[in-house]
Amino acid sequence: MPGNDTIAAAVAEAWEHTKKVSGGENADYIPALASVDPDLFGISIVTVDGHVFNEGDSTVEFAIESISKVFTMALAMEEIGAKAFREKVGTDPTGLPFNSVMALALHGGKPMSALVNAGAMSSTSLIPARDADERWRKILAAQSAFAGRTISLSDEVNSSEQTTNFHNRGIAWLLYSGGFIYSDPMEACDIYTRQCSTMITTEDLATMGATLANGGINPVTGDRVVSSENVPHILAEMTMEGLYEASGDWAYTVGLPGKSGVGGGIFCVAPGLLSIAAFSPRLDQFGNSVRAQAAITQIAQELKLNLYLGTGGPRAATQFGASSGITNEVLVSTPH
Ligand code: GLU
Repeated sequence: MPGNDTIAAAVAEAWEHTKKVSGGENADYIPALASVDPDLFGISIVTVDGHVFNEGDSTVEFAIESISKVFTMALAMEEIGAKAFREKVGTDPTGLPFNSVMALALHGGKPMSALVNAGAMSSTSLIPARDADERWRKILAAQSAFAGRTISLSDEVNSSEQTTNFHNRGIAWLLYSGGFIYSDPMEACDIYTRQCSTMITTEDLATMGATLANGGINPVTGDRVVSSENVPHILAEMTMEGLYEASGDWAYTVGLPGKSGVGGGIFCVAPGLLSIAAFSPRLDQFGNSVRAQAAITQIAQELKLNLYLGTGGPRAATQFGASSGITNEVLVSTPH
């Protein structure tokens, strides 16, 4: 584990350096996102031993959007099991945009990944519940457990999305006709739209990521949120599909599982160590925040967090017991 001073310096330097990065545009197909101040910029890191590092607009709330797909996927896997989840949703990248209808046509109507809109609605519909209200409450409770605080819906973002989500409604009906949605399709689309419209800060997001880095136990609350066996499946999905069609480039350059959303947030996970989250609203052509990508890339490279470094990265030190006691205990008890 890099030392606290090293992490704090890396975060401060990345914020100073990458706040100058310009380019990109706010998402405008969701009216409420188009009006967010495009210059907002926050970064947070949360470590598996519960240390929190914040810089810039780290207390400003933003819409979770597509990042919510990770936590609904985790909940669905917990509820129905990873094997059934794989059969019912699929666990491969589509290589196509997050709302692609062509991806469905190419795969016999199967979503392939829980991290595209089709797979996210399919995952939402899989959560066992008596009715829509209970399903929604379970999803919101999962987001809150990952973040370690009560996460709430933005009525403004939700109504903005609910009144413009015609494309997603079309996808839900295609899933229904192919047999890959497991509740009423419009109900699944409605709940999916709500789960995208909750508000988080970068500190929330880094805590959510640190829960995955920590084998499924939230390092701030100490609560187990997801079983350790499902964590590698979740991180593998993030690697394959987390940054839309740029996921391969992200793996090549940063080497950490990540997930972004059109609200401008991105988080990534260094298993056994920490999570980095950043938020800034301007997006590139794929839907990834330009500044958040730059900031996370700089920090991950500075701290040598790339998973594929093997013995060259900080994991080498943890393996031989050079990190804090808490980290070692967690590494021993939770297989990654
Ligand atoms: N709610 C957004 C949608 O369904 C999420 C998209 C995203 O963040 O990728 O289009």
